[in-house]
Amino acid sequence: MRLEGTDLLPGAYRRLYYLLLTSVPVVRTYPPIFVLDLHALDESLTDAKMNPCPHCHRAGMVIGHGLLVGYAEFSSDRVTRGRRFLCSNRFRRSGCGRTFSVWLSTVLAGFTVRTPTMSRMFHAVIGGLCIKAAWEKDALSGLTPHSGYRLWHRLLVAQSRLRSMLCDRAPPPPCNNTQPLAQLLSHLQQVLGPTDCLFAGFQLTFQRHLLG
Ligand SMILES: [Zn+2]
Repeated sequence: MRLEGTDLLPGAYRRLYYLLLTSVPVVRTYPPIFVLDLHALDESLTDAKMNPCPHCHRAGMVIGHGLLVGYAEFSSDRVTRGRRFLCSNRFRRSGCGRTFSVWLSTVLAGFTVRTPTMSRMFHAVIGGLCIKAAWEKDALSGLTPHSGYRLWHRLLVAQSRLRSMLCDRAPPPPCNNTQPLAQLLSHLQQVLGPTDCLFAGFQLTFQRHLLG
């Protein structure tokens, strides 16, 4: 599951490329909750009318409702994180009037930090670094170690849910490391296969938020 380079391919070929690269069955949700990249996000807007509303399940009522924009990790630039949609009840349309979001797979909802940074921190802590040192290794400008602890706590809370979802796909592999998080890492690697970012791969494959 490689995330880079796919932006050069047209949409249909990119989806095929993605499917060929991974034998991991991807959970299909319509509309998706996570998409691979900005191209796929644009396609979700094109496909909006064809997708049913996730709340009332009516088709043909979903329209774009603007981009989800937030701060970049390493600067004060504003970047796209996803797109919001509305099940339109305007002008006598029969939608339910509720909104929903489609996110880029590298976004952690509620956090500026993206999944690749979180994955590096995860590997570093399992490798023996303390949370503060693992966090400072990436030198996230403007983000205090408190953010790193908060993120880590959320991952610990999510751990049992993640493991049970992974167990639905495959039993955990044998692991010499007795740390629960090391076992989670090897389970993620077994289920997702080779990937640039385990956590983005998880969100894209399972169509669920990593941190709940
Ligand atoms: Zn609706």
